[in-house]
Amino acid sequence: MVRVNENYTLLQGSYLFSEVAKRVRMYQEKNPEKKIIRLGIGDVTQPLVPSVVKAFQEGVEEMSKKESFHGYGPEQGYEFLREAIAEVDFRKRGIDISPDEIFISTGAKEDTANFQELFDQKVSVAIPDPVYPVYVDSNVMAGRSGRLKNGRYERFFYLDATLENNFKPEIPKKRFDLIYLCFPNNPTGQVLTRDELKAWVEYAHKYGSILFFDAAYEAFVSDPSLPKSIFEIEGAREVAVEFRSLSKTAGFTGTRCAYTIVPRDVKVYTKKGHAVSLHALWFRRQSTKFNGVSYPVQKAAAAVFTPEGQKEIQEVLAYYKENARIILEAIREIGFPCTGGTHSPYIWFKTPMDSWKFFDYLLERVQIVGTPGIGFGKNGDGFFRLSAFGDRSNVKEAIERLKTIS
Ligand code: PLP
Repeated sequence: MVRVNENYTLLQGSYLFSEVAKRVRMYQEKNPEKKIIRLGIGDVTQPLVPSVVKAFQEGVEEMSKKESFHGYGPEQGYEFLREAIAEVDFRKRGIDISPDEIFISTGAKEDTANFQELFDQKVSVAIPDPVYPVYVDSNVMAGRSGRLKNGRYERFFYLDATLENNFKPEIPKKRFDLIYLCFPNNPTGQVLTRDELKAWVEYAHKYGSILFFDAAYEAFVSDPSLPKSIFEIEGAREVAVEFRSLSKTAGFTGTRCAYTIVPRDVKVYTKKGHAVSLHALWFRRQSTKFNGVSYPVQKAAAAVFTPEGQKEIQEVLAYYKENARIILEAIREIGFPCTGGTHSPYIWFKTPMDSWKFFDYLLERVQIVGTPGIGFGKNGDGFFRLSAFGDRSNVKEAIERLKTIS
């Protein structure tokens, strides 16, 4: 008898998206003439921009010739890509991050899930609710959760994001080792001001905590006074790791390229109190368990950071942002209390009934599919997420239908 890793038995079933698909399929079978509009998914719909496609093709072409063929690449990613990222995302904006602090990967999902393994099993973890489920599940798999009781794991500390606190979790009064933050947030779409983010950095300094900052949606921040990176905050270099991704920024959800920033200044400690560099540990972990992103994909990714690439992705982002504006306006008009939609592709709103009842109501009444908030945590019940990643014509039709429910 081979014993299972018991931690895996503590996971909640990934019930949300399969249940959504099942309900939609059943409805469509019963009502084949109805046109269903999907505003639930967090996946992009617009193609890669021309300069990215060109670089991608050039990369493939190089791989086809002996003189320009590439085998395994450098562990952290090609220098040309890390240099381009350091310049455009950081140096140009006055932020002190060097190319050797950037680790190229296939996704922020992988990195946010894997990073926790550098820490002792007993570290305390604070996780927002509602939340991108990967932070919770990866810590459950690692054996940090304890049992699930009434929808919450007994050993996690939950950072409540509710209508009452405007979906900005309060800073805890006591110490936690690891704190997950995600702004602009999935699912709430909420953003933090620079001062609010500064307060988290101060907390981490005060208690010797480490902040995991997920910036997967930073490209949706349009107001220059709002932070697009935690490293805009003084002192963050000693206490934060940041996860960034080209998935939503440049339509790479199917192409796969992301990057994690691990500053050389973040330290962790052995049982005997010796300081160890987190950067060195992550390098060691990646070079053991990961063999890099393909050369053509890294070439394609580097094109995102050229002036032409930046211009082109801004046009696509503007398209999604306009979708978000249209959806947000409709939700406000209907009168549901809501957040997001301004610096985020997600619109999060309070529903007049529980999440699943509202899901069924919307599907049956106006054939719109969204995501029930309960799928993101206990605090998500009674809330609903709509996404701006669809086609404009569908978004417009959806909001006309939505307005009829008010
Ligand atoms: N982080 C958040 C908050 C997300 O919502 C997502 C995807 O939806 C990811 C990370 C995953 O990004 P990637 O496609 O780079 O794995």
